[in-house]
Amino acid sequence: MSELVTLSLKDVRDKLARKEVSAREVVDACMERIEATDTELNALTRPMPEEARARAEALDAGGPDPDKPLWGVPIAVKDLICVAGVPNTCGSRILENFVPFYDAHLVSRLVDAGAIIVGKANLDEFAMGSSTETSCYGVTRNPWDTNRVPGGSSGGSAAAVSACQCYASVGTDTGGSIRLPASLCGCVGVKPTYGRVSRYGLVAYGSSLDQAGPFGRTVEDTAIMLEAMSGHDDKDSTSVDRPVEPYARLLAERGDLKGLTVGLPKEYWDEGLDPEVESVLSRSLDTLKGLGATLKEVSLPLTKYAVPTYYIIAMAEASSNLARFDGVRYGRRAEKPEDLMDLYVRSRTEGFGDEVQRRIMIGTYVLSAGYYDAYYRKAAQVRRRIRDDFLAALDGCDVLAGATSPTVAWQLGALTDDPLKMYLMDIFTLSINLAGLPGLVLPVGLGRESGMPVGLQLIGKSFDESTLFQTGHLLEQALEPIGPPAGLSG
Ligand code: GLN
Repeated sequence: MSELVTLSLKDVRDKLARKEVSAREVVDACMERIEATDTELNALTRPMPEEARARAEALDAGGPDPDKPLWGVPIAVKDLICVAGVPNTCGSRILENFVPFYDAHLVSRLVDAGAIIVGKANLDEFAMGSSTETSCYGVTRNPWDTNRVPGGSSGGSAAAVSACQCYASVGTDTGGSIRLPASLCGCVGVKPTYGRVSRYGLVAYGSSLDQAGPFGRTVEDTAIMLEAMSGHDDKDSTSVDRPVEPYARLLAERGDLKGLTVGLPKEYWDEGLDPEVESVLSRSLDTLKGLGATLKEVSLPLTKYAVPTYYIIAMAEASSNLARFDGVRYGRRAEKPEDLMDLYVRSRTEGFGDEVQRRIMIGTYVLSAGYYDAYYRKAAQVRRRIRDDFLAALDGCDVLAGATSPTVAWQLGALTDDPLKMYLMDIFTLSINLAGLPGLVLPVGLGRESGMPVGLQLIGKSFDESTLFQTGHLLEQALEPIGPPAGLSG
């Protein structure tokens, strides 16, 4: 593998700026890596060699631009985020022929910042899942062990970064879909505060929960990415009009963690945690202490309600969001329908996979007359209480720290027959989407038995991504780096 592809985003960007390497050379190195690894990994639904090379040449012709923080840097984008002229499939047969004619807001920002998109990344169908096993383009494999899942739903975005196919990528996180795959694939993933990144041009799953965010191999790289992709957008009414902090620059302003209080939610450290995960995470807490942080136990008593609350709200919103894919307004249309009803029923039956159909049915049920109060309204009330729990826990702390997932990456197929068990893998990630708060996951070591990465989750106050980046960055500097994954051919 070329050494160029193992560099951090920041290092390759600086080399590009100094003209030590051209954008075309960097794209070629990534394309070679994609060719060597993606038959096995299936991280990308669509590599984009022609588009990426043409763009690299155009950038090279103009020369490096110091005002563009991502000038010449190859990235991948989850295949439910619109890139003009490129199919946006959501990993679903129903959208296989959908070609958007516009860029998502975050895509325009990244492209304006000089990034080069080298591919669309695989995902669970419509981002519904925790393992990237439900895409109609097949499963994505974990670069650390190709018999294991990469986590989901943004498993392709995480695997692509961890396998050095590109320097950073974008995913979306409705209930953990950035943080879980980051943890299982050993890279950094950030779920920003709800409203920080525009959702314009993202196919909606749970509109009140969805946020896009970056993956990178270092905390600093994700800070550079988030800064470039954030910002107000008047096309998304939930996008917040508030200045974006210079996350990357602020990293240098903190040399230690003295004065920082880290809350440890006791429900996130209970017996449910696999012992090898627990032991890696506990060691990282010692490192945090060594850096000067004060650790303090806090409680999030409603954690046990997070899974049912989230799944009611997410499925309710999904059933409504997915109504537009009916073979008429959007999506593939069934052949030779007998009548209108037959057209709807067959288009949706043929187009959606099992997990998506299950969620549409449950979502429709919880919203139906007679059940709305018992399920949806109740879930909305509990959601508010969960948010209050977090605000109380964060009252005397700067960040919270805990597990991202109860285990390391599991074997492919291990949970596909048991949706409930799969949903439980999200126990530590769902709540912050319900509460709207930001979270950052970074690799803190490898499990002693499995040799698989373990990610620590840091949770912050609303719009305080800076503290998450600073804490994660200092912790990362103090730990042994874990990657890149050995053994992957190419
Ligand atoms: N695993 C969760 C779900 O299936 C979260 C998915 C996500 O964040 N997109 O809904």
